[in-house]
Amino acid sequence: MTNSNTADKAARYRQRMQQKKQVVDAAIARADQEKGLLLVLTGNGKGKSSSAFGMTARALGHGMRVGVAQFIKGRSDTGEEAFFRKQKQIVWHVLGEGFTWDTQNLERDTATARNGWSIVQKMLCDTRFDLVVIDELTYPLKFGWLDMDQVLNDLQSRPLMQHVVITGRGAPDRLCDAADTVTEMRDVKHAFRCGITAQKGIDL
Ligand code: ATP
Ligand code: MG
Repeated sequence: MTNSNTADKAARYRQRMQQKKQVVDAAIARADQEKGLLLVLTGNGKGKSSSAFGMTARALGHGMRVGVAQFIKGRSDTGEEAFFRKQKQIVWHVLGEGFTWDTQNLERDTATARNGWSIVQKMLCDTRFDLVVIDELTYPLKFGWLDMDQVLNDLQSRPLMQHVVITGRGAPDRLCDAADTVTEMRDVKHAFRCGITAQKGIDL
């Protein structure tokens, strides 16, 4: 390539980047509101709870106070629980008893979920919590153990600047409609289907 070709290419690249920067800067300037967000992380792919705990780490890093409520709790030996329980600004509630196919008791699962929601309700009324993570909430909603109107109403009446992250597969439409940010994790491949068991630090 000649010197003039190289210079042309560099000039075109600079011009393209300048235009792109104008568009990005304008979009950033437009987004000037502050509010507590409702985020829903759903879909069949891996990454919902680990993303929620990534935000938990971010919030704690900023000195924010975090409440975590875990609804369907398959195991109590996760790295996130061991790590976050050592932190000062976090309250960690395990509200579920395990997967439905393990408990096999509708009445008990319903009572556990309702009792769990009453603990979440307290956090949703407490301005000291900057972030509330409700892990695997979609299951008690889908199974009808919790009343959707009640849950939406409690979420809507939370403090103005409080963020809430909800995880779980198959998030109901009404929950997604109420959310500010919804991400659907898509399952492209998962090692489990090749016979690989859950790996420490990755899956638990
Ligand atoms: P993670 O906690 O890893 O972010 P998740 O919250 O997206 O996963 P869950 O549906 O809560 O997914 O599943 C919990 C466990 O099942 C985790 O150990 C996760 O790695 C594993 N898992 C998630 N997605 C799949 C999948 N598509 N196939 C098999 N196992 C999965
Ligand atoms: Mg999960």
